[in-house]
Amino acid sequence: MLYRRLGKTDLKVSEIGLGAEWLERHNYEECKAIIDTCAEQGINILDCWMSEPNVRTHIGKAISGNREKWYIQGHIGSVWIDGQYKRTREMDKVVPAFEDLLQRLDTDYIDLGMIHFVDSMKDYEEIVNGPFIEYVRKLKADGVIKHIGMSSHNPEVAIRAVTEGLIENLLFSINPAFDILPASEDINTLFVEEYDASLAGMDPVRAELYKLCEQNDVGITVMKGYAGGRLFDEKRSPLGVALTPVQCIHYVLTRPAVASIMAGFDNPGHVLDAVKYETASDDEKDYATVLANAPKHAYAGQCTYCGHCKPCPMDIDIAMVNKYSDLASMQDEIPESIQNHYDQLAHKASECIGCGSCEARCPFGVKITEKMQFTAALLG
Ligand code: SF4
Ligand code: SF4
Repeated sequence: MLYRRLGKTDLKVSEIGLGAEWLERHNYEECKAIIDTCAEQGINILDCWMSEPNVRTHIGKAISGNREKWYIQGHIGSVWIDGQYKRTREMDKVVPAFEDLLQRLDTDYIDLGMIHFVDSMKDYEEIVNGPFIEYVRKLKADGVIKHIGMSSHNPEVAIRAVTEGLIENLLFSINPAFDILPASEDINTLFVEEYDASLAGMDPVRAELYKLCEQNDVGITVMKGYAGGRLFDEKRSPLGVALTPVQCIHYVLTRPAVASIMAGFDNPGHVLDAVKYETASDDEKDYATVLANAPKHAYAGQCTYCGHCKPCPMDIDIAMVNKYSDLASMQDEIPESIQNHYDQLAHKASECIGCGSCEARCPFGVKITEKMQFTAALLG
């Protein structure tokens, strides 16, 4: 298992994590088997957004004795009322629900205290101007949560949280289908049957969010990396092609600022399927060929950082050069952090001799030699 730094939190998290949502439908023994398999495979981060009492208790019992080996994303504002999950900002419900999380997980701290599910600007405003944020900040000051994070599906809201310095990490929904959708306050738009036919390539607001996370050192953990399994089925995928779990994971883990994908597992076999990513060949990880040939909503002309264009005779890491180029070119002034990352590359865009061999291998038809010239002028 590879580990990545989760932005400014400095936590070293496994690049594959446990999104514990599916554990809700399992008894304790089944939850324990999944969690033990995760631990054996080196997974060290789990997300528990669920307020359902039994799943919280099962997770707490399963990690009992090993609490310090896990980084837990626990959510604030996810409550259980009348036998149902609810999202709320009413403090008389928020506080007991968070205390219940601590008690059921049998812990006195949560590593990543997530402001739960903020998709509308109105909700964001109310949170940052009311008692909710005071409570979250007090939890941090008291050491009950170690870092403040937020979960969202709306890139516009997430951009505010990142640029206003509200959060240290972001739980965000990322996969190649969602990435082409424009921002919305309604989560249901992510799951419509068909996308608007004019949509293609990455939505600029989402690209801007990933750039800003990288620039502000806000690490991203990812939810819905498989779009709830829809991406495995060409009939249900809005892209019209089927991807494997390994391909979905590779797509997510090659986005800027992403540290870990919180994958959902229904049994220990699902854990092992996801962990196959760690030993998968380049061919097995190759989402690019699949996306490039998608009958709907192609990414033509856009670099997806897939690395398919290797090898370069000048040893330029074309995917990384393109990633920094895209991050840098989206703003008026090049951020120092992006320039520093670029400067650390062993070979720069300026070394490109224009042989064009990479272009023949790029499934998306990216004009790489032009992009190298552009980047050499931009970053050196
Ligand atoms: S230039 Fe093409 S092949 Fe190379 S990383 Fe980008 S999309 Fe992939
Ligand atoms: S065109 Fe430039 S970047 Fe592409 S393979 Fe040749 S030298 Fe490398």
